[in-house]
Amino acid sequence: MNNVSVVGLYIHVPFCLSKCPYCDFYSVRYSAEQAHAYAEAVIRNIRHYSAHYDTVYFGGGTPILLYRHIGSILSSADIADGAEITVEANPCMAEPEILEALHKAGVNRLSFGVQSMNADELVFLGRRHTTEQAVSAVKNSHSAGFENISADMIIGLPGQTEKKISYTAERLAELGVNHISAYILKIEENTPFAVSRPELPDDDRTAELYLYTVKRLAELGFPQYEISNFAEQEFRSRHNLRYWRCEEYIGIGAAAHSYYNGKRFCTPRDIASFIQNEHQITGITDDHPGGWEEYAMLKLRLTEGITFAEAERYGRRGELIQKAAKLPERLVSVSGSGISLTPEGFLVSNSVIGELIF
Ligand code: SF4
Repeated sequence: MNNVSVVGLYIHVPFCLSKCPYCDFYSVRYSAEQAHAYAEAVIRNIRHYSAHYDTVYFGGGTPILLYRHIGSILSSADIADGAEITVEANPCMAEPEILEALHKAGVNRLSFGVQSMNADELVFLGRRHTTEQAVSAVKNSHSAGFENISADMIIGLPGQTEKKISYTAERLAELGVNHISAYILKIEENTPFAVSRPELPDDDRTAELYLYTVKRLAELGFPQYEISNFAEQEFRSRHNLRYWRCEEYIGIGAAAHSYYNGKRFCTPRDIASFIQNEHQITGITDDHPGGWEEYAMLKLRLTEGITFAEAERYGRRGELIQKAAKLPERLVSVSGSGISLTPEGFLVSNSVIGELIF
């Protein structure tokens, strides 16, 4: 194991059964033939690196569509005992035999795109699954042996009330999920919602809904640990924590990003090219990552914030304390050991982080 880096492995799976009207992630309609060729290209690219992985994350897209290939992909990588291995999944595909195959392949964490437990909200979001399928997905996962399950929810929908958010959060808690990601809906360019322009709550109302979500999730046993992520310590996403702690990872697949051997680079947003080429990256996007601005910006997304010892490493301790003192307590919390943003601070994180570090 000497001289072999221990990093995270991200595998981008750019296939979906259909496109949700709010989504601007890079994905195309699934075809079994293309997915097979894509999985072979993933394996070929993994073999290009000699790294040891302690977290693996299949993101997308809809990675569960690749369930027949996930075992061979994992076998091609040098994965640590006890590694966290996550697959994102759509509840409409969570059949017992698929989940059992994933569990047998070594996957130990599932992340379901539940989005809401209110039927009308799922219809608005154009999701393929029903609330009943979301319930079955979590139950089937438990039966297949999964003990670490995350669910996404979306807030800031037209006419959404605290009651509806609470209903979704309570149903997820009752089902026994261990981790919740709650994202605020935004209208992204080049999506159907950018054309139909649904009327979303204004900024003040969205802020109320976000702060309510943070409070309600904490009451239900999901304390906030990042702007959009909520879980007790043992169920926090080890892979995603790598990103926020500025640790290295290798990204494989069309449109995947990497931070490895001190450089940031990415793969073209082109499935055909990824399949055809032996190994392809677009080039270095940053050859001096990990500077103060980047480090602080990522760490301040976490409720743990940035410690004075970390700021000291960059020679910024005094400056950080001075700048934090000028910001209101409702946005920034200063303790004996460091600085973190409050939930209200997270709502305006770009400007608060800007004030603290530039
Ligand atoms: S939201 Fe998820 S399932 Fe829907 S199109 Fe985007 S990646 Fe695919």
